[in-house]
Amino acid sequence: MKIFCIGRNYADHAKELKNEIPDEPVVFMKPKSALLQSHSPFYYPEFSNELHYEAELVLRISKNGKYIPERQASKYYNAITVGIDFTARDVQAELKAKGLPWEKAKAWDNSAVIGTWKEVTPDIQKKPINFSLTKNGELVQQGISSDMMFSFDEIITHISNYFSLNIGDLVYTGTPAGVGECVVGDILQGFFEAEKMFELEIK
Ligand code: ZN
Repeated sequence: MKIFCIGRNYADHAKELKNEIPDEPVVFMKPKSALLQSHSPFYYPEFSNELHYEAELVLRISKNGKYIPERQASKYYNAITVGIDFTARDVQAELKAKGLPWEKAKAWDNSAVIGTWKEVTPDIQKKPINFSLTKNGELVQQGISSDMMFSFDEIITHISNYFSLNIGDLVYTGTPAGVGECVVGDILQGFFEAEKMFELEIK
């Protein structure tokens, strides 16, 4: 199982981190060991002093494929949820400054959180999806899929030009503005429209 993540897919988030607006999807990966298993506790990573949440819509791949044309792309995922791409922002800033790869900031154990899966229906594919994240009950991130610079289908096509997609692979589709710090004791809740998809305590 592979975990793909898209960076800078919402213009307002790219701007808040002072990143350039990309002309093609920014792709990075997390290993399988990055996925937090359901009901497992989430611990603040020891090597960071600046842990950031990034709430994202996550797709689950349902069909094996490579070089997937965009008009076929929607047939390659059948489940969606809200998740968190946890980022050690201090580690990332250091690596970025040195022009080094991001894995130590992004791909560590349990850095990928997912909520309950929802079936992707034609209705979900047609309408913009609102999603949000609360921290200790306060709204901190709010996104709508129509603000993505690269759509689900464009992302699937782009990734598949470089990597084969396999059943069970996950795709984090990028985070909107509002990323921020969390500390031990914080409670994060992710919502797909009004539906709560996960609740996580930072331990
Ligand atoms: Zn992200």
